[in-house]
Amino acid sequence: MPDERITWTDCPTCGDRAAVGWQIDRGPDGGLQEAPTTFDCNSGCTMTDLQVIYWFGGRGPGGGPARPR
Ligand SMILES: [Zn+2]
Repeated sequence: MPDERITWTDCPTCGDRAAVGWQIDRGPDGGLQEAPTTFDCNSGCTMTDLQVIYWFGGRGPGGGPARPR
């Protein structure tokens, strides 16, 4: 069941507060994987999907902070 959460970060473009939406899925190994899906800056900056992944999703395939269990 897909889930989603929001984190706040500094906008890479203007430095204001920005919300990043993460989609949370279970990977093939059962671990949780997060992928950045949306970006919403308080000042109205926009990002393409590729930019969002570049700034927030540079963890690489198969890696990531998911804890083994
Ligand atoms: Zn901004």
